Amino acid sequence: MTEVQTTPLDYKIPEGCPVCAADLPVRVSGSGPRAVCKHCGWFGRPHIRVTHRGLRVTINGDAA
Ligand SMILES: [Zn+2]
Repeated sequence: MTEVQTTPLDYKIPEGCPVCAADLPVRVSGSGPRAVCKHCGWFGRPHIRVTHRGLRVTINGDAA
């Protein structure tokens, strides 16, 4: 059985902002994950992988 996510998903990475280390909200939509720091305004595209231990989020600072 396959489930298709059609609604955006929101996550928050604790201290996930690479600039100011604030909590980093991540929204996953059909166009891919997108992170925007509400504290300093940094934004980027994190890579989200599903592992056995849950979601793994990596951010390489290719803000665009
Ligand atoms: Zn920040």
